[in-house]
Amino acid sequence: MASLPWTQQLTDNLADRKAAGRYRQQRTRLGEQGVNVVIDGQKCLSFCSNDYLGLASHPALKKAFIDAVEDEGVGAGAAHLLTGHSHYHQQLEEALADFTGQQRTVLFSSGYQANMGVIDGLMTRGDVIIQDKLNHASLLDGGRLSSAEQYRYRHVDMAGLEKRLQQSEQTNHRLIISDGVFSMDGDIAPLPDILTLAKQHDAAVLIDDAHGFGILGEHGRGSVEYWNISQDESPIVMGTFGKAFGTAGAFVAADDEVIETLIQQARTYVYTTAQPAAIAAATLASLKLVEQESWRREKLQSLISRFKTGATQLGLNVMDSSTAIQPVLIGDDQQAIKIGKALEEKGILVGVIRPPTVPEGSARLRITFSANHSEQDVTQLLNALELAHAH
Ligand SMILES: *Cc1c(COP(=O)(O)O)cnc(C)c1O
Repeated sequence: MASLPWTQQLTDNLADRKAAGRYRQQRTRLGEQGVNVVIDGQKCLSFCSNDYLGLASHPALKKAFIDAVEDEGVGAGAAHLLTGHSHYHQQLEEALADFTGQQRTVLFSSGYQANMGVIDGLMTRGDVIIQDKLNHASLLDGGRLSSAEQYRYRHVDMAGLEKRLQQSEQTNHRLIISDGVFSMDGDIAPLPDILTLAKQHDAAVLIDDAHGFGILGEHGRGSVEYWNISQDESPIVMGTFGKAFGTAGAFVAADDEVIETLIQQARTYVYTTAQPAAIAAATLASLKLVEQESWRREKLQSLISRFKTGATQLGLNVMDSSTAIQPVLIGDDQQAIKIGKALEEKGILVGVIRPPTVPEGSARLRITFSANHSEQDVTQLLNALELAHAH
């Protein structure tokens, strides 16, 4: 094949990236996702999946998935608005409406698509979108797709949000968007304050609860339950299944007219193949476990507390997070890489997160916990962090 006319430029860019310590590589996992994984042939104790409740390989999910494949085959074969929408998808949408206490929900094939779809589906030229600066990339991209005007405010800075609302007072359609739990920092957005400001300024609110759904609140209903928000005050909520739910895909929950609008005009909904029905069947099984077995959330909390106490004693620069995402701030990119490597040599895998995923100078270890970790796993991690000079 003929090479691209700008191949040399690509090669140079890649070399620059490598030199800057920002080169990322795929690694190959063998076997199930879990706490003990085999990555590139090496057995590791993993603290870098988002399978927070340890459901990705749960027997009930496997069985539901396999049974549904027997019934329905594998591929959905078409978009939801053609023949791709199976009775499993329908059941899941209804169960999620019950679970979230919202009027209606709609499924998307991934969280990325859900965010792109909900923003693009509701907002257009002349409208205003106001986002927390640390929102997930898919939310920022959704803003771009929509061609609405974009404003940002400093991370969880409510005075900053208010200022943006004042600056855009002449605009009718305004949407405030925030992660419920921030994916790289693990902190929880001040949802009641956001909702109060939204009400005062007549703006709508969208919460991306990818890391809150299944985790926060007594029943795992997410940010809305955690903050005790009443049903009629609830924001539009996006939740994903690829994290705590252990499957794949996402949904948006809101009032009927919002959901109907998305079904009609969200491009990432209309123009894509539905997820396999078996994924919806497995997600139904996981919804049951999330709802009925709160012990996983309780165990996760106790592991998190144990880690925080130990890490503080070691003098690690732990960030202000009470969720399953426990970042240890390192700062320098190369230093973060070095510590990540040292941990790996001890068979421990953590996320090494560098810019542009996080702001310059805030490279960090992103440590995530799962209900399947043991107390001994946490001790092993702390010992390794101490030896790796992560402080
Ligand atoms: C993972 C994530 C997404 C994207 O969800 P996928 O289903 O993985 O595409 C969106 N928002 C946040 C905050 C996330 O962490």
